[in-house]
Amino acid sequence: MSEPQTSIAIVYDFDHTLSPGFMQDDTILAHAGIDPGTFWNSCTALIEQEGYDQELAYMKRLLEYEAIRALSNRDLRRMGAHLTFFPGVPDCFGELNDVLRQPKYQEQHIRLEHYVVSSGLKAILDGSAMAAWTTAMWGCEFAEAEGRISFPKRTVSHTQKTQYLFRVNKALLNTAQNVNDHMPEEKRPVPFQHMIYVGDGPTDVPCFTVIKKNGGLAVAVYNPGDATKRSFKKCYDLMLHADRVHCMAPADYRQGSQLRLILEQRLTEIADGIVERRRQDKAAARVPAPPS
Ligand SMILES: [Mg+2]
Repeated sequence: MSEPQTSIAIVYDFDHTLSPGFMQDDTILAHAGIDPGTFWNSCTALIEQEGYDQELAYMKRLLEYEAIRALSNRDLRRMGAHLTFFPGVPDCFGELNDVLRQPKYQEQHIRLEHYVVSSGLKAILDGSAMAAWTTAMWGCEFAEAEGRISFPKRTVSHTQKTQYLFRVNKALLNTAQNVNDHMPEEKRPVPFQHMIYVGDGPTDVPCFTVIKKNGGLAVAVYNPGDATKRSFKKCYDLMLHADRVHCMAPADYRQGSQLRLILEQRLTEIADGIVERRRQDKAAARVPAPPS
């Protein structure tokens, strides 16, 4: 008999997927009184003129301000309370878990796990209301010296984000564990077919591709309140012209929204598939009694 493989995972990007903005704007930049537009332009200059990686560019720029250098990771965690979310976040996490609360799913121990993978700062995510609902959240991290943030300890770039999909797939959630350790497909706790990735744009293309290629569901969300329609156009292009995602929906996580219908439908499909496979495994394992 194969491994039970009864876990389902939804992996979310954060900026512009669960939140309408960049997490730094509501937290660290607001704290230091820095204008977000000026800040992000200064990061773009580092990237375009000096060839910096995007994540190292913003981490370097943050450390250029005394008011930010004075902060600890604990301070960053406290700022997580100031994050803004799209409608329905974080209540949607528990409500989506409720979809699997039917006896036929509970009997098979089918469970849903939520993960966030961001190029923003993990400490801020850890201090947010999402922490109670997520199995793990990953992002860039600062090391500390004498109680102050001092140097980038870990960066999570757009391409590196795919590593975390394999961490979910193999349940190697601790970054000290080698994600490249061999594990046969049938032994992996969360098969890619049981995964849903929710992202917002070109920065999610590596994750969308890994998910889609391996049988998971790739969903692009857009901000319906963006009057420029740029957010919508990004998703439209990803779906129609680049064939990177299966579907797109407004980033509204409330009950009855198009996004919720898509997520709940897929969860139900995956869970029914698990129930059916478990039934077949049981039937195959049954040895018929010898004829009397
Ligand atoms: Mg994003």
